[in-house]
Amino acid sequence: AHFHALNLSRPLLRAVEALGFVTPTAIQARAIPYGLAGRDVCASAQTGSGKTAAFVLPMLERLLYRPRSAAATRVMVITPTRELAVQIHSMCGALAQFTDIGCCLVVGGNKNIKAQEAELRNRPDIVICTPGRMIDHVVNSACVHLDDLEILVLDEADRLLEMGFEEEVHTLVEHCPRGRQTMLFSATMNTKVQGLIKLALNKPVRVVA
Ligand code: AMP
Repeated sequence: AHFHALNLSRPLLRAVEALGFVTPTAIQARAIPYGLAGRDVCASAQTGSGKTAAFVLPMLERLLYRPRSAAATRVMVITPTRELAVQIHSMCGALAQFTDIGCCLVVGGNKNIKAQEAELRNRPDIVICTPGRMIDHVVNSACVHLDDLEILVLDEADRLLEMGFEEEVHTLVEHCPRGRQTMLFSATMNTKVQGLIKLALNKPVRVVA
């Protein structure tokens, strides 16, 4: 198989090529078609499997072919650590390099919270975040709303829950509109992850790398 078989548009295929990716990994080959079709996806995948591009490519493709209806954030990716958020943000920038899609990193620590608020008020298409800092913006300062969110990604769901972010993740999910698409990735599928799947996903397709 080749990326050309996956029905991605030119700017995304160019970016895949620029990154030197030739063949999709197993999780990419299995998850991308469902992501593109707008299905909720529940994927078992480890770090290193290529899972980041498995959700970034379909989310970019759907943003490209469904024009923006309002100035609003359209995708939110929730991941447990700042390091993962930085990696996803960088992959997202690389894959979106031939498009005009904008991507904003929302993590605690380095950045002045006021500067981050200003960035969010510009309604970036995509927000990549850790749960604690995103709660500050959505609930406490209310500088961003998720009413027009089209896609929610829950990355490393097992670690999100193990690290004690259950309440924050549930609150963020409850701020998202019902008609959205949700993609969840997890290395393990324990009882807590099953609970999150029940709360956040609608008739998910199960995919194993
Ligand atoms: P991830 O599991 O998303 O953290 O990706 C692990 C590594 O694999 C990253 O360094 C990616 O750049 C790389 N990668 C992802 N997809 C592919 C692919 N289809 N071909 C070659 N390398 C890839």
